[in-house]
Amino acid sequence: MRDPVLVPRLRPFASTVFAEMTALATRTGSVNLGQGFPDTDGPAGMLDAARQAIADGVNQYPPGPGRPELREAVAAHRQRYGTSFDPESEVLVTAGATEAITAALLGLTDADDEVILLAPYYDSYAAAVAMAGARRVVVSLAQSDGTFRLDLDAIRAAITPRTRAVVLNSPHNPTGTVFGRDELAGLAQLCVEHDLIAITDEVYEHLVFDAPSGREHIPLGTFPGMAERTVTISSAGKTFSCTGWKIGWACGTPEIVAAVRAAKQFLTFVSGGPFQVAVAHALNNELPWVERNRQALQRKRDRLSEGLADAGFGVLESSGTYFVCADVRPLGITDATELAWQLPERIGVAAVPVGSFTEGPEFDHLLRFAFCKQDDVLDEAIKRLRSL
Ligand code: PMP
Ligand code: GLN
Repeated sequence: MRDPVLVPRLRPFASTVFAEMTALATRTGSVNLGQGFPDTDGPAGMLDAARQAIADGVNQYPPGPGRPELREAVAAHRQRYGTSFDPESEVLVTAGATEAITAALLGLTDADDEVILLAPYYDSYAAAVAMAGARRVVVSLAQSDGTFRLDLDAIRAAITPRTRAVVLNSPHNPTGTVFGRDELAGLAQLCVEHDLIAITDEVYEHLVFDAPSGREHIPLGTFPGMAERTVTISSAGKTFSCTGWKIGWACGTPEIVAAVRAAKQFLTFVSGGPFQVAVAHALNNELPWVERNRQALQRKRDRLSEGLADAGFGVLESSGTYFVCADVRPLGITDATELAWQLPERIGVAAVPVGSFTEGPEFDHLLRFAFCKQDDVLDEAIKRLRSL
Protein backbone atom coordinates (compact mmCIF):
# COMPACT_ATOMS: atom_id res chain seq x y z
CA MET A 1 0.00 0.00 0.00
CA ARG A 2 1.23 3.49 -0.88
CA ASP A 3 1.93 5.64 2.13
CA PRO A 4 0.22 7.98 2.78
CA VAL A 5 -2.82 6.53 1.03
CA LEU A 6 -4.86 9.74 1.04
CA VAL A 7 -4.59 11.49 -2.32
CA PRO A 8 -2.57 14.72 -2.29
CA ARG A 9 -5.49 16.98 -3.18
CA LEU A 10 -7.37 15.92 -0.02
CA ARG A 11 -4.39 15.72 2.34
CA PRO A 12 -5.00 19.18 3.82
CA PHE A 13 -8.53 18.08 4.72
CA ALA A 14 -7.92 14.85 6.61
CA SER A 15 -9.99 15.96 9.61
CA THR A 16 -12.17 18.94 10.52
CA VAL A 17 -11.42 21.29 13.38
CA PHE A 18 -15.04 21.01 14.53
CA ALA A 19 -14.96 17.25 14.90
CA GLU A 20 -11.52 17.33 16.53
CA MET A 21 -12.51 20.03 18.98
CA THR A 22 -15.75 18.26 19.92
CA ALA A 23 -13.80 15.04 20.50
CA LEU A 24 -11.34 16.92 22.72
CA ALA A 25 -14.20 18.63 24.58
CA THR A 26 -15.87 15.27 25.22
CA ARG A 27 -12.61 13.65 26.33
CA THR A 28 -11.89 16.44 28.80
CA GLY A 29 -15.46 17.03 30.02
CA SER A 30 -15.27 20.58 28.71
CA VAL A 31 -18.05 23.02 28.02
CA ASN A 32 -18.17 22.83 24.23
CA LEU A 33 -18.48 26.27 22.67
CA GLY A 34 -16.50 24.99 19.68
CA GLN A 35 -18.70 23.21 17.17
CA GLY A 36 -21.80 25.24 16.35
CA PHE A 37 -24.90 23.25 17.22
CA PRO A 38 -27.73 24.15 19.58
CA ASP A 39 -28.32 22.12 22.74
CA THR A 40 -32.11 22.42 22.57
CA ASP A 41 -34.58 21.09 19.99
CA GLY A 42 -36.40 22.88 17.20
CA PRO A 43 -40.17 23.54 17.04
CA ALA A 44 -42.33 20.75 18.49
CA GLY A 45 -44.64 20.83 15.46
CA MET A 46 -41.70 20.06 13.18
CA LEU A 47 -40.53 17.17 15.37
CA ASP A 48 -44.09 15.79 15.40
CA ALA A 49 -44.28 16.10 11.62
CA ALA A 50 -41.12 13.98 11.26
CA ARG A 51 -42.46 11.30 13.60
CA GLN A 52 -45.77 11.34 11.74
CA ALA A 53 -44.07 11.05 8.36
CA ILE A 54 -42.17 7.97 9.55
CA ALA A 55 -45.40 6.47 10.94
CA ASP A 56 -47.11 7.26 7.63
CA GLY A 57 -44.51 5.26 5.74
CA VAL A 58 -42.55 8.09 4.11
CA ASN A 59 -39.48 5.90 4.37
CA GLN A 60 -38.35 5.17 0.82
CA TYR A 61 -36.33 7.24 -1.64
CA PRO A 62 -37.84 10.68 -2.15
CA PRO A 63 -37.83 12.02 -5.74
CA GLY A 64 -34.36 13.06 -6.99
CA PRO A 65 -35.03 16.82 -6.85
CA GLY A 66 -36.66 16.49 -3.41
CA ARG A 67 -40.22 16.04 -2.17
CA PRO A 68 -42.59 18.42 -3.99
CA GLU A 69 -44.06 19.89 -0.77
CA LEU A 70 -40.56 20.89 0.38
CA ARG A 71 -39.62 22.41 -2.99
CA GLU A 72 -42.86 24.38 -2.89
CA ALA A 73 -42.21 25.53 0.68
CA VAL A 74 -38.66 26.62 -0.20
CA ALA A 75 -39.91 28.59 -3.21
CA ALA A 76 -42.63 30.24 -1.10
CA HIS A 77 -40.09 31.08 1.61
CA ARG A 78 -37.72 32.74 -0.87
CA GLN A 79 -40.50 35.14 -1.85
CA ARG A 80 -39.74 36.99 1.39
CA TYR A 81 -36.71 38.38 -0.49
CA GLY A 82 -38.75 39.21 -3.59
CA THR A 83 -37.39 36.26 -5.58
CA SER A 84 -39.49 33.71 -7.44
CA PHE A 85 -38.22 30.20 -8.06
CA ASP A 86 -40.19 27.55 -9.91
CA PRO A 87 -40.41 24.60 -7.47
CA GLU A 88 -40.28 22.19 -10.42
CA SER A 89 -37.10 23.36 -12.11
CA GLU A 90 -35.42 25.94 -9.89
CA VAL A 91 -35.25 24.28 -6.45
CA LEU A 92 -33.17 21.25 -5.52
CA VAL A 93 -33.27 19.55 -2.10
CA THR A 94 -29.85 18.43 -0.85
CA ALA A 95 -28.20 16.67 2.09
CA GLY A 96 -27.65 19.90 3.98
CA ALA A 97 -26.08 23.06 2.64
CA THR A 98 -22.78 21.19 2.63
CA GLU A 99 -23.86 18.90 -0.18
CA ALA A 100 -25.41 21.79 -2.10
CA ILE A 101 -22.13 23.74 -1.96
CA THR A 102 -20.05 20.72 -2.95
CA ALA A 103 -22.42 19.76 -5.77
CA ALA A 104 -22.45 23.37 -7.01
CA LEU A 105 -18.66 23.41 -7.17
CA LEU A 106 -18.54 19.97 -8.80
CA GLY A 107 -21.22 20.81 -11.34
CA LEU A 108 -20.19 24.36 -12.18
CA THR A 109 -16.40 24.54 -11.95
CA ASP A 110 -13.88 22.62 -13.98
CA ALA A 111 -10.32 21.48 -13.53
CA ASP A 112 -8.07 24.54 -13.16
CA ASP A 113 -10.93 27.00 -12.90
CA GLU A 114 -10.27 29.47 -10.11
CA VAL A 115 -12.76 29.88 -7.28
CA ILE A 116 -12.53 32.86 -4.96
CA LEU A 117 -13.04 32.12 -1.26
CA LEU A 118 -13.31 34.96 1.22
CA ALA A 119 -11.27 34.29 4.33
CA PRO A 120 -11.98 33.38 6.99
CA TYR A 121 -14.16 30.76 5.27
CA TYR A 122 -16.14 27.69 6.32
CA ASP A 123 -13.87 24.67 5.99
CA SER A 124 -15.92 22.64 3.53
CA TYR A 125 -15.47 25.23 0.76
CA ALA A 126 -11.77 24.58 0.28
CA ALA A 127 -12.27 20.82 0.44
CA ALA A 128 -15.05 20.99 -2.16
CA VAL A 129 -12.94 23.16 -4.48
CA ALA A 130 -10.20 20.55 -4.17
CA MET A 131 -12.65 17.72 -4.92
CA ALA A 132 -13.73 19.58 -8.04
CA GLY A 133 -10.08 19.81 -9.10
CA ALA A 134 -10.47 23.59 -9.25
CA ARG A 135 -8.06 26.08 -7.68
CA ARG A 136 -8.94 28.15 -4.66
CA VAL A 137 -7.94 31.77 -4.60
CA VAL A 138 -8.23 33.20 -1.12
CA VAL A 139 -9.05 36.85 -0.49
CA SER A 140 -9.28 38.00 3.11
CA LEU A 141 -12.03 40.18 4.47
CA ALA A 142 -10.89 43.67 5.43
CA GLN A 143 -10.66 44.08 9.22
CA SER A 144 -10.95 47.35 11.04
CA ASP A 145 -11.90 48.07 14.64
CA GLY A 146 -13.13 44.55 15.20
CA THR A 147 -15.46 44.54 12.18
CA PHE A 148 -15.13 42.89 8.82
CA ARG A 149 -16.03 44.02 5.30
CA LEU A 150 -15.77 42.66 1.80
CA ASP A 151 -12.48 43.92 0.37
CA LEU A 152 -13.77 44.73 -3.10
CA ASP A 153 -10.42 46.05 -4.35
CA ALA A 154 -8.68 42.87 -3.27
CA ILE A 155 -11.41 40.73 -4.85
CA ARG A 156 -11.12 42.69 -8.09
CA ALA A 157 -7.35 42.25 -8.06
CA ALA A 158 -7.74 38.49 -7.56
CA ILE A 159 -9.99 38.01 -10.60
CA THR A 160 -8.26 36.52 -13.66
CA PRO A 161 -9.57 35.13 -16.96
CA ARG A 162 -9.67 31.72 -15.22
CA THR A 163 -11.92 32.88 -12.37
CA ARG A 164 -15.19 31.03 -12.58
CA ALA A 165 -16.93 31.45 -9.24
CA VAL A 166 -16.97 33.19 -5.90
CA VAL A 167 -18.39 31.71 -2.69
CA LEU A 168 -20.12 34.18 -0.38
CA ASN A 169 -21.34 33.37 3.13
CA SER A 170 -23.59 35.91 4.81
CA PRO A 171 -24.42 36.00 7.69
CA HIS A 172 -20.82 34.97 8.03
CA ASN A 173 -19.31 32.08 9.95
CA PRO A 174 -17.00 32.54 11.87
CA THR A 175 -17.08 36.35 12.27
CA GLY A 176 -20.81 36.93 12.75
CA THR A 177 -20.71 39.65 10.09
CA VAL A 178 -23.84 40.42 8.09
CA PHE A 179 -22.63 42.06 4.91
CA GLY A 180 -24.31 45.32 3.96
CA ARG A 181 -26.11 46.44 0.82
CA ASP A 182 -23.31 48.58 -0.61
CA GLU A 183 -20.56 45.99 -0.35
CA LEU A 184 -22.89 43.28 -1.70
CA ALA A 185 -23.84 45.53 -4.61
CA GLY A 186 -20.12 45.97 -5.31
CA LEU A 187 -19.54 42.22 -5.30
CA ALA A 188 -22.56 41.68 -7.55
CA GLN A 189 -21.17 44.21 -9.99
CA LEU A 190 -17.83 42.38 -10.10
CA CYS A 191 -19.64 39.09 -10.76
CA VAL A 192 -21.59 40.60 -13.65
CA GLU A 193 -18.58 42.44 -15.07
CA HIS A 194 -16.40 39.32 -15.06
CA ASP A 195 -19.13 36.78 -15.81
CA LEU A 196 -18.68 34.89 -12.52
CA ILE A 197 -20.98 32.42 -10.82
CA ALA A 198 -21.87 33.28 -7.22
CA ILE A 199 -22.42 30.45 -4.79
CA THR A 200 -24.13 31.90 -1.74
CA ASP A 201 -24.23 30.13 1.61
CA GLU A 202 -27.17 31.60 3.50
CA VAL A 203 -27.61 28.99 6.26
CA TYR A 204 -27.80 31.73 8.93
CA GLU A 205 -30.30 33.81 6.94
CA HIS A 206 -32.73 33.99 9.89
CA LEU A 207 -30.10 34.68 12.53
CA VAL A 208 -29.54 38.41 12.09
CA PHE A 209 -29.48 40.51 15.27
CA ASP A 210 -30.18 44.13 16.20
CA ALA A 211 -32.89 44.63 13.58
CA PRO A 212 -33.56 48.22 14.75
CA SER A 213 -30.09 49.16 13.50
CA GLY A 214 -31.36 48.36 10.01
CA ARG A 215 -29.30 45.24 9.60
CA GLU A 216 -30.90 42.62 7.38
CA HIS A 217 -30.00 39.60 5.33
CA ILE A 218 -29.84 40.56 1.65
CA PRO A 219 -29.33 37.62 -0.73
CA LEU A 220 -26.67 38.33 -3.37
CA GLY A 221 -28.97 36.77 -5.96
CA THR A 222 -31.38 39.69 -5.63
CA PHE A 223 -28.97 42.27 -7.12
CA PRO A 224 -29.26 43.30 -10.79
CA GLY A 225 -27.86 40.72 -13.18
CA MET A 226 -27.35 38.14 -10.42
CA ALA A 227 -30.42 35.90 -10.75
CA GLU A 228 -28.99 34.11 -13.78
CA ARG A 229 -25.56 33.54 -12.20
CA THR A 230 -26.28 32.73 -8.55
CA VAL A 231 -26.69 29.42 -6.76
CA THR A 232 -28.60 30.36 -3.63
CA ILE A 233 -28.07 27.84 -0.86
CA SER A 234 -29.59 27.44 2.57
CA SER A 235 -30.66 24.71 4.96
CA ALA A 236 -32.94 23.84 7.86
CA GLY A 237 -30.21 23.07 10.39
CA LYS A 238 -29.68 26.54 11.83
CA THR A 239 -33.11 28.00 11.10
CA PHE A 240 -34.95 25.21 12.93
CA SER A 241 -32.25 23.90 15.32
CA CYS A 242 -31.99 20.51 13.63
CA THR A 243 -28.37 20.37 12.49
CA GLY A 244 -28.42 16.57 12.48
CA TRP A 245 -31.21 16.32 9.91
CA LYS A 246 -29.13 17.67 7.04
CA ILE A 247 -31.92 19.02 4.88
CA GLY A 248 -30.69 21.78 2.59
CA TRP A 249 -31.52 23.28 -0.77
CA ALA A 250 -30.09 25.08 -3.77
CA CYS A 251 -32.09 27.55 -5.88
CA GLY A 252 -31.20 29.07 -9.22
CA THR A 253 -32.08 29.07 -12.89
CA PRO A 254 -33.15 25.72 -14.39
CA GLU A 255 -29.71 25.45 -16.06
CA ILE A 256 -27.84 26.08 -12.81
CA VAL A 257 -30.04 23.74 -10.80
CA ALA A 258 -29.64 21.03 -13.45
CA ALA A 259 -25.85 21.38 -13.20
CA VAL A 260 -25.93 21.11 -9.40
CA ARG A 261 -28.33 18.14 -9.62
CA ALA A 262 -26.02 16.33 -12.05
CA ALA A 263 -23.35 16.21 -9.35
CA LYS A 264 -25.71 15.83 -6.39
CA GLN A 265 -27.41 12.73 -7.75
CA PHE A 266 -24.12 10.84 -7.57
CA LEU A 267 -23.16 12.09 -4.12
CA THR A 268 -26.21 11.00 -2.10
CA PHE A 269 -28.84 10.71 -4.87
CA VAL A 270 -31.46 11.61 -2.22
CA SER A 271 -31.70 11.74 1.57
CA GLY A 272 -33.91 12.35 4.60
CA GLY A 273 -37.40 11.58 3.21
CA PRO A 274 -39.41 12.05 6.43
CA PHE A 275 -37.30 15.04 7.44
CA GLN A 276 -38.09 16.71 4.12
CA VAL A 277 -41.78 16.49 5.02
CA ALA A 278 -41.11 17.95 8.46
CA VAL A 279 -38.98 20.82 7.13
CA ALA A 280 -41.72 21.67 4.61
CA HIS A 281 -44.10 21.89 7.56
CA ALA A 282 -41.62 24.08 9.44
CA LEU A 283 -41.06 26.52 6.55
CA ASN A 284 -44.82 26.87 6.16
CA ASN A 285 -45.78 27.08 9.84
CA GLU A 286 -42.91 27.67 12.22
CA LEU A 287 -41.48 31.08 11.33
CA PRO A 288 -42.93 32.59 14.56
CA TRP A 289 -40.83 30.01 16.44
CA VAL A 290 -37.81 31.06 14.36
CA GLU A 291 -38.33 34.70 15.38
CA ARG A 292 -38.52 33.79 19.09
CA ASN A 293 -35.41 31.69 18.70
CA ARG A 294 -33.62 34.58 16.99
CA GLN A 295 -34.46 36.87 19.90
CA ALA A 296 -33.26 34.27 22.39
CA LEU A 297 -30.00 33.87 20.46
CA GLN A 298 -29.47 37.62 20.46
CA ARG A 299 -29.73 37.59 24.28
CA LYS A 300 -27.28 34.68 24.38
CA ARG A 301 -24.88 36.60 22.17
CA ASP A 302 -25.03 39.47 24.65
CA ARG A 303 -24.62 37.14 27.63
CA LEU A 304 -21.53 35.45 26.21
CA SER A 305 -20.05 38.68 24.80
CA GLU A 306 -20.29 40.35 28.22
CA GLY A 307 -18.83 37.28 29.91
CA LEU A 308 -15.91 37.15 27.49
CA ALA A 309 -15.23 40.86 28.02
CA ASP A 310 -15.29 40.35 31.81
CA ALA A 311 -12.84 37.49 31.38
CA GLY A 312 -10.45 39.89 29.63
CA PHE A 313 -10.95 39.09 25.95
CA GLY A 314 -11.33 41.77 23.30
CA VAL A 315 -14.82 40.93 22.07
CA LEU A 316 -15.71 41.61 18.44
CA GLU A 317 -19.12 42.63 17.19
CA SER A 318 -21.38 39.76 16.14
CA SER A 319 -24.44 40.73 14.11
CA GLY A 320 -25.63 37.26 13.22
CA THR A 321 -25.00 33.47 13.22
CA TYR A 322 -24.26 31.36 16.31
CA PHE A 323 -20.83 32.86 16.85
CA VAL A 324 -18.87 35.64 18.46
CA CYS A 325 -15.13 36.10 17.97
CA ALA A 326 -12.77 37.24 20.69
CA ASP A 327 -9.25 38.66 20.50
CA VAL A 328 -6.88 36.92 22.93
CA ARG A 329 -4.18 39.63 22.84
CA PRO A 330 -5.63 41.67 25.73
CA LEU A 331 -4.95 38.55 27.85
CA GLY A 332 -1.27 38.81 26.95
CA ILE A 333 -1.55 35.87 24.56
CA THR A 334 -0.67 36.12 20.87
CA ASP A 335 -1.47 32.69 19.43
CA ALA A 336 -5.18 31.87 19.69
CA THR A 337 -4.72 28.59 17.84
CA GLU A 338 -2.29 27.27 20.42
CA LEU A 339 -4.59 28.54 23.18
CA ALA A 340 -7.64 26.81 21.64
CA TRP A 341 -5.92 23.42 21.79
CA GLN A 342 -4.85 24.02 25.42
CA LEU A 343 -8.11 25.45 26.79
CA PRO A 344 -10.01 22.17 27.22
CA GLU A 345 -7.23 20.65 29.36
CA ARG A 346 -6.45 23.89 31.18
CA ILE A 347 -9.88 25.21 32.10
CA GLY A 348 -12.47 22.90 30.56
CA VAL A 349 -13.76 25.12 27.75
CA ALA A 350 -13.62 24.40 24.01
CA ALA A 351 -13.57 27.12 21.32
CA VAL A 352 -12.44 27.10 17.71
CA PRO A 353 -9.42 29.08 16.47
CA VAL A 354 -10.36 31.42 13.62
CA GLY A 355 -6.94 30.64 12.14
CA SER A 356 -8.30 27.26 11.08
CA PHE A 357 -10.69 29.02 8.67
CA THR A 358 -7.85 30.10 6.42
CA GLU A 359 -4.18 29.50 5.64
CA GLY A 360 -2.69 32.90 6.43
CA PRO A 361 -1.73 34.27 9.86
CA GLU A 362 -4.01 37.33 9.91
CA PHE A 363 -6.70 35.82 12.13
CA ASP A 364 -4.37 33.96 14.49
CA HIS A 365 -5.33 36.19 17.43
CA LEU A 366 -9.01 35.24 17.31
CA LEU A 367 -11.09 32.51 18.93
CA ARG A 368 -14.63 31.71 17.84
CA PHE A 369 -17.15 30.91 20.58
CA ALA A 370 -20.61 29.44 19.89
CA PHE A 371 -23.42 30.95 21.98
CA CYS A 372 -26.24 28.66 20.75
CA LYS A 373 -26.28 26.96 24.18
CA GLN A 374 -28.46 27.02 27.27
CA ASP A 375 -27.79 29.92 29.62
CA ASP A 376 -26.38 27.76 32.41
CA VAL A 377 -23.94 26.23 29.93
CA LEU A 378 -22.80 29.70 28.83
CA ASP A 379 -22.51 30.80 32.47
CA GLU A 380 -20.38 27.80 33.36
CA ALA A 381 -18.09 28.51 30.40
CA ILE A 382 -17.78 32.16 31.45
CA LYS A 383 -16.95 31.14 35.03
CA ARG A 384 -14.19 28.87 33.77
CA LEU A 385 -12.87 31.47 31.31
CA ARG A 386 -12.53 34.01 34.10
CA SER A 387 -9.86 31.77 35.63
CA LEU A 388 -7.60 32.35 32.62
N1 PMP B 1 -22.22 26.75 5.86
C1 PMP B 1 -21.88 27.33 7.02
C2 PMP B 1 -21.38 28.71 7.01
C3 PMP B 1 -22.01 26.61 8.21
O1 PMP B 1 -21.67 27.18 9.36
C4 PMP B 1 -22.47 25.30 8.17
C5 PMP B 1 -22.51 24.51 9.42
N2 PMP B 1 -23.75 24.27 9.79
C6 PMP B 1 -22.83 24.75 6.94
C7 PMP B 1 -22.69 25.49 5.79
C8 PMP B 1 -23.35 23.37 6.81
O2 PMP B 1 -24.73 23.34 6.76
P1 PMP B 1 -25.51 21.95 6.71
O3 PMP B 1 -25.42 21.36 8.08
O4 PMP B 1 -26.88 22.31 6.31
O5 PMP B 1 -24.82 21.09 5.72
N1 GLN C 1 -21.17 24.62 11.06
C1 GLN C 1 -20.68 24.18 12.33
C2 GLN C 1 -19.62 25.14 12.81
O1 GLN C 1 -19.20 26.00 12.09
C3 GLN C 1 -20.05 22.82 12.35
C4 GLN C 1 -20.39 21.86 11.30
C5 GLN C 1 -19.41 20.74 11.29
O2 GLN C 1 -19.05 20.19 12.33
N2 GLN C 1 -18.93 20.39 10.14
O3 GLN C 1 -19.20 25.04 13.92
